[in-house]
Amino acid sequence: MLRGKTALITGSTSGIGQGIAEAFAAKGCNVVLNGFGDPAEIELLRSRLAADHEVTVRYDNADMSKGEAITVMMDKAIAEFGAVDILVNNAGIQHVAPIDDFPIEKWEAVVAIDLMSSFYTIRRALQAMKARKWGRIINVASAHALVASPYKSAYVAAKHGVAGLTKTVALEVAEQGITVNAVCPGYVLTPLVEKQIPDTAKARGITEEQVIKDVLLAAQPTKQFVTVEQVASLCLFLASDDAASITGAIMPIEGGWTAH
Ligand code: NAD
Repeated sequence: MLRGKTALITGSTSGIGQGIAEAFAAKGCNVVLNGFGDPAEIELLRSRLAADHEVTVRYDNADMSKGEAITVMMDKAIAEFGAVDILVNNAGIQHVAPIDDFPIEKWEAVVAIDLMSSFYTIRRALQAMKARKWGRIINVASAHALVASPYKSAYVAAKHGVAGLTKTVALEVAEQGITVNAVCPGYVLTPLVEKQIPDTAKARGITEEQVIKDVLLAAQPTKQFVTVEQVASLCLFLASDDAASITGAIMPIEGGWTAH
């Protein structure tokens, strides 16, 4: 049922987004990749997905902090494929610093990429989804859409915003065959998490090993990292017809972190 549909995944040149792109390509979806990275590696990923799964895979380098570039990316994808049937808003960055020492430009970048970008993608995707009376919007939020952690004010604010956006848009389009949900992963060992370990160690005055054991894994009752594949599987399920009655859900996949 996903075969032949088009999935656009923002921030899919790395980590969770790449795993989601691989999962949708494996189900026979045409895929639009987006994100930054080494052009040769991105081209390898694009051509491998296309060849392995006999689907069309495009890459768009739109900067998710720039509304105009996002709109152009969406228009190009819709012109080529007729619609973006499945939109996964996954691009994200993190910055860790105490609020009174938080660089303003970093705060603005986190909010632009982690929250505002979804406003731009969703508004464009909806026109074609409404015409087809079918669509799936999946926002990759975070456990930080449900709980806070110190020194992550921009990220926590942006991800709580994603939860609000998800619920609001879900209500606006509920009668039109379009579902809008957020997935909320706990810690997944990707470059985003690896980069924040030294900054967290500095902000808390502890070692990097202590950050992994006493901050990251300690947050999750399972004491295990969530995997990229687990998040991708949840996204596949939310895109399936079996999930047609799930909308406006802010869905934890965080090893029990937010159950307290
Ligand atoms: P990652 O750093 O591995 O990947 C981030 C992706 O976003 C990359 O493809 C990168 O190129 C892209 N990106 C960053 N800035 C961009 C921009 N301005 N324009 C376009 N693309 C941009 O990180 P990840 O851990 O895979 O994170 C993916 C999503 O999952 C993020 O929204 C993140 O907040 C969320 N998340 C991650 C974790 C985790 O523990 N890793 C937990 C919860 C939520």
